[in-house]
Amino acid sequence: MADQYDLIIIGAGPGGYTAAIRAAQLGMKVAIVEREHMAGICSNWGCVPTKALLRSAEIYGYMSHAEKYGLTSGGPGFDLDAIIKRSRQIAGQMNNGVQFLMKKNKVDIIWGEARLAAPGVVDVGQPTKPPVEPQHPAPKNRLGEGTYKARNVIIATGARPRVLPGIEPDGELIWTYFEAMKPASFPKSLVVMGSGAIGIEFASFYRSLGAEVTVIELLPQILPVEDAEISALARKRMEKRGIKFLTDARVTKVDKSKSGVTAHVELKSGETQQVSGERLISAVGVQCNTEGLGLEQLGVKLERGAIAIDEYGRTNVPGVWAIGDVAGPPMLAHKAEHEAMITVETIAGQKVHPLDRRRVPGCTYCEPQVASVGLTEARAREQGREIKVGRFPFVGNGKAIALGEPDGLVKTIFDAKTGELLGAHLVGAEVTELIQGFVIAMNLETTEEDLIHTVFPHPTLSEAMKEGVLDAYGRALNI
Ligand code: FAD
Repeated sequence: MADQYDLIIIGAGPGGYTAAIRAAQLGMKVAIVEREHMAGICSNWGCVPTKALLRSAEIYGYMSHAEKYGLTSGGPGFDLDAIIKRSRQIAGQMNNGVQFLMKKNKVDIIWGEARLAAPGVVDVGQPTKPPVEPQHPAPKNRLGEGTYKARNVIIATGARPRVLPGIEPDGELIWTYFEAMKPASFPKSLVVMGSGAIGIEFASFYRSLGAEVTVIELLPQILPVEDAEISALARKRMEKRGIKFLTDARVTKVDKSKSGVTAHVELKSGETQQVSGERLISAVGVQCNTEGLGLEQLGVKLERGAIAIDEYGRTNVPGVWAIGDVAGPPMLAHKAEHEAMITVETIAGQKVHPLDRRRVPGCTYCEPQVASVGLTEARAREQGREIKVGRFPFVGNGKAIALGEPDGLVKTIFDAKTGELLGAHLVGAEVTELIQGFVIAMNLETTEEDLIHTVFPHPTLSEAMKEGVLDAYGRALNI
């Protein structure tokens, strides 16, 4: 029997839906199976709705300091419901946008929960769990439950919040990102467990609007994957904004009461502390959605909880591929999307470059923003590399001063022998937009010389990037 499809994709997040579009562009007959929300976690509960919340918080922050800019305001206020409504509307818009893109690219949407019965055979049934937000309507033109066949199947089922045993989220007092995204009321005090990007973004949002926030981190530094110097600067700025941090600290248990939660914390020093708040956000990472897909029966290999893939997205079972969060870290939307391109083009028989994970940028959209790509200084030294390190503070940048944002740093790391840009680490205003300049530079394998010969527009924050490069070679001008 002929296959119904060239490709079936399970999961319509940024990995899955972009894979579907690329496959359609390459002439494949494609279907995508989704059980809950078109556009995945990213657009519905992750990247985009958090940025909408953070934008409200940012404007509130500017309003609080209006006089600094020669402006008067009656003092800022906020309407939590309206902030959440805006964020949810934006999520809905993204969801609808992806439905439109599927239609435009003639991709069939199959609505339901998928399970692989055999390689190339996908059973679609009723979702085993109710959707988090039932009011998101399922797409109008959709296929339903049944068995579908395809020559190739891509698994793009994403991830969900990781849960620590004994500190299970209850949706009331202990939240995951789902509840933190649309709280019923504003908590006056908040404990955040975990200082990765998700924990820090929520800490930043709630603090900006006035909550007392304490972040508890197991490791010695906040934003543990970032360069230590950048992380320390971000911490200092956030402490100045009133966020409290406990690092080298483990939450051993959480007591619940009518008024809130108390986290029992064990510090590395052996000391113990109790931290109370109205709510606790558990942001201790995510866990891959590998269950219920029939992977065990098919013999699809997992590695540390993720589907094991080669550099082109192949699993160990022919015709079964995996991309995005379910295929392991870094758990980022742009990594999922890039893997989607590599995998689909490989399926189409094209010659493609594998993903270089060292060149995947990471951004945290807190106040101040943090962005990075490549090796941290510590990692470069651990690798025994001889390096040159450049640093340029925003206080030497005219645009940063004009914006009223003089607290920031650009740090560059070069191979001393070859001039190869090994890493770039930024903290400060708009650095999540700036980092891409360094990503392109690394991807094109530029050296310090190419960067020094590049003209940067004035006055822009990007000039701090050039100065960061110049400083590595003892040539910074404005400091
Ligand atoms: P997902 O987006 O998780 O999509 C998987 C889809 O598969 C889901 O829609 C799910 O319903 C569906 N599915 C699962 N199992 C089945 C099944 N059996 N049958 C049918 N459908 C199924 N990343 C960034 O790059 N930048 C950010 O700023 C950022 N911010 C974030 C903020 C938060 C609060 C969170 C939680 C995440 C954030 N992320 C961010 C991470 C980002 O959301 C993920 O990396 C990204 O969504 C992964 O895409 P994906 O396609 O692999 O999976």
